[in-house]
Amino acid sequence: MQDIPKVGFVSLGCPKALTDSELILTQLSAEGYQTSKTFEGADLVIVNTCGFIDDAVKESLDTIGEALSANGKVIVTGCLGAKAGHASDNLVKEIHPSVLAVTGPHATQEVMDHVHAHLPKPHDPFIDLVPAAGIKLTPKHYAYLKISEGCNHRCTFCIIPSMRGDLVSRPVGDVLKEARALFEGGVKELLVVSQDTSAYGVDVKYRTGFFDGKPVKTRMLDLVEELGKLAEPYGAWVRLHYVYPYPHVDDVIPLMAQGKVLPYLDVPFQHSHPDVLRRMKRPASGEKNLERIQRWREMCPQLVIRSTFIAGFPGETEAEFEDLLAFVREARIDRAGCFAYSPVEGASANELPGAVPAEVREERRARFMAVAEEVSAAKLRERVGATMQVLVDNAPGLGKKGGVGRSYADAPEIDGTVKLLPPEKLSKQLKVGEFTKARVMSTQGHDLIALPI
Ligand code: SF4
Repeated sequence: MQDIPKVGFVSLGCPKALTDSELILTQLSAEGYQTSKTFEGADLVIVNTCGFIDDAVKESLDTIGEALSANGKVIVTGCLGAKAGHASDNLVKEIHPSVLAVTGPHATQEVMDHVHAHLPKPHDPFIDLVPAAGIKLTPKHYAYLKISEGCNHRCTFCIIPSMRGDLVSRPVGDVLKEARALFEGGVKELLVVSQDTSAYGVDVKYRTGFFDGKPVKTRMLDLVEELGKLAEPYGAWVRLHYVYPYPHVDDVIPLMAQGKVLPYLDVPFQHSHPDVLRRMKRPASGEKNLERIQRWREMCPQLVIRSTFIAGFPGETEAEFEDLLAFVREARIDRAGCFAYSPVEGASANELPGAVPAEVREERRARFMAVAEEVSAAKLRERVGATMQVLVDNAPGLGKKGGVGRSYADAPEIDGTVKLLPPEKLSKQLKVGEFTKARVMSTQGHDLIALPI
């Protein structure tokens, strides 16, 4: 009998890269390949890389080096695969000339072609063993749904468009079919991701697609409405990431107020001051973001906003930075992350005048985080005494000694959690991937402490 070929797989990078990994793993499994947990036990290794910031580039190059020395047969895919080197058009090949092949991101077919060339497919694939929802790297009860690739913006600190190209929206019918398969496969929380979720469909002029024979526009509002309808019979959550504060996003807020999708928006504002936003060439930089947030909160008071910011962008004055601190306070951003500006090779912001010294960038980041944490902690304290729906992520022994979950206000991996106390009722059990109601007793840093009821 033919030995089953084994592929080692390393997935680095953001949630968008993770969905690429899932597509490749699904295809490998569909064709009868097995995965190996070790480099040594594999016949070939695939490394899905990230090329966004210099640390990620280093991590990716190091991992490729480790895979090469432990295994020798390595295929590289992902963002770093699309990056030019110092002396050639490909950085990976320049540093690791012995890799078998290099592709850019979202190149499942290309990766599979290279796999076939170096490790032929097994004779008799057990195609039926692949669940309709594909192979997922996230825990079974939540999944990322990628709705588009690439980006039409040209933010000056970002090199994603040069690596991933302009926006390409996936057909709305395909996206909805995938969402339905995920819910049918037991997913209780769907995380919608892209580079710019609010731009969905712009590239195809909001073309009308079809789902179950019904026309649906390739447009954020229509997509979100349909996702809400698909999630409802499963009691599942739909969470939106990477949404820009464009006026048309206002139309999505009523769906949140009505409970059709989670009242949670991940809006990467990056800054508040119009001059800094202009230097960053941010989408929606001309919008009045504070007024917009206030209007959203009037329409949907339970709305939680997560955002990321950059401190010490080239040319940022102390006054501009203080504007940012005031914005975080006034907008009451529930969850905020902040990077000290760091030049990314190839980004046009590197050419801007007025570089802020590294220690000032770091000091501003620390000042920002102190304010953001104050705001966030005050908002968390308002929840004490409330009863919330919590999705259980971890509950050893059916939660007899407690567990960990998340409320609508917490996206996995980036926000806080809800620490669940042992239930008082003996009959109460906590099960991973199921919802429980819990009464919030207190707060602890970014987390809530709650009693399952
Ligand atoms: S919106 Fe800006 S930061 Fe985001 S991917 Fe596009 S260019 Fe990069």
